[in-house]
Amino acid sequence: MNDNLNKGSVFETKIIDISHEGKGVGKIDGFTVFIDGATLGDTVSAEITKKKKNFAFGKTLEIIKPSRHRVKSNCKVSDDCGGCQLRDLSYEKQLEMKTDKVKNDLERIGKLEDVEIHDIIGMDKPIRYRNKAQVPVGENHIGFYKKGSNSIVDTDECVIQSKSTENVIKLIRDFMKKYDVSGYSRRTNKGTIRHIVTRVSFKTGDMMVILVTNSPKLPHKEELIQMIRKEMPKVKSIIQNVNSEKTNLVMGDKNKIIYGHGKIIDYIGDLQFKISPNSFFQVNPKQTQLLYEKALKFAGLKGNEIVFDIYSGIGSLSLFLSKKAKKVYGVEVVKEAVEDANENAELNKINNVEFFEGTAESILPKLCEEGEQADVVVLDPPRKGCEVEVLDSIIKLAPEKVVYISCNPSTLARDLKYLSENGFVVKEVQPVDMFAGSVHVETVTLIEKK
Ligand code: SAH
Repeated sequence: MNDNLNKGSVFETKIIDISHEGKGVGKIDGFTVFIDGATLGDTVSAEITKKKKNFAFGKTLEIIKPSRHRVKSNCKVSDDCGGCQLRDLSYEKQLEMKTDKVKNDLERIGKLEDVEIHDIIGMDKPIRYRNKAQVPVGENHIGFYKKGSNSIVDTDECVIQSKSTENVIKLIRDFMKKYDVSGYSRRTNKGTIRHIVTRVSFKTGDMMVILVTNSPKLPHKEELIQMIRKEMPKVKSIIQNVNSEKTNLVMGDKNKIIYGHGKIIDYIGDLQFKISPNSFFQVNPKQTQLLYEKALKFAGLKGNEIVFDIYSGIGSLSLFLSKKAKKVYGVEVVKEAVEDANENAELNKINNVEFFEGTAESILPKLCEEGEQADVVVLDPPRKGCEVEVLDSIIKLAPEKVVYISCNPSTLARDLKYLSENGFVVKEVQPVDMFAGSVHVETVTLIEKK
């Protein structure tokens, strides 16, 4: 479209949006360019680094006029690190941008009008909110992956992680130096330690440390355990996970408990959850509680409802809802998660929940055929949203209410469009900021039968 723009071309533009990858979006004569190193509202001079048919990529050469929403990053490595994309943007503006994103997607993709979209619920202090870290260990560096890359930014610090996680990273760095234990090379598939994974309970401060190693052998294991026990008594569980594959997956299947318990207990509200090393658990416990409370409010439970919780994970939301419902049925594809869910029901002495293992798209149609009824269906799918079989089953089930939790406004909008064309009305959307500093947006939506 724009013949004057080629690799190496330099141009000036104002950043009018941020892409889902966190790049600044600029337009030149209507042609879209995704630009690194620029934030919303900046005017920059940039150079085209790659040109495609309908858009191009560029990098900032100079910020000619900084955005009035630009702030000094509170992280030393945010220019390079791929973890957070919005460290240069004020938190207020981040929140505004996320609410706008939801509004735009619902209008543009969902063709939805008359939906009440509330302002996003932000965090009081948008730092140190994560209860889980995955820290890659390379040949020469320990830290986090660079933007769009497998090379590692060397750092012990991360403002969204707990201080105790930073201390674990420092300690393992010291251990590796003292005993000459090597980090992993992706190039040669050699070296000992591949990842440090931590989980911390914000309620008790207890920690689990998982060392992902390339082979079953971990040299100086006893010395490491002694170091951790001496310096970090809150670590109640040390696990060695073996991953020998040439893969981007962080953890392998095999876990060896090398100290303490094999699971860590965490809380959402009063509910306890036993979490295994490989299980999914919400990473921002504070905002998760707000999200679940909103979901509960939207569900409007009075105590005699049958609820389906589709994509139920380790059952955290199912258990949260079960206190106000007659019965909750969870559906989840990961076997270990279903096992954890059952164990968690027992741990909390909850008897009115039942979990089915399998895909939502296979189980829900079956429940429909068997004539099961639901008053409320709760959905919390992964980023790609719901398969159409799931939505068709919901249309057949015709529950009074559907509560849809989503971590991707685009697929949410697509699915809401389908439901709204088939007997449902989208009433209210509440975005909740679970991932401050990043571009990710979480929402909970209330949908009612017409
Ligand atoms: N509601 C839970 C988990 C949400 S994460 C919570 O709040 O913690 C989404 C879950 O969907 C994951 O546990 C994932 O394993 C599961 N999942 C992904 N695809 C699925 C499918 N096709 N059918 C059923 N579950 C699926």
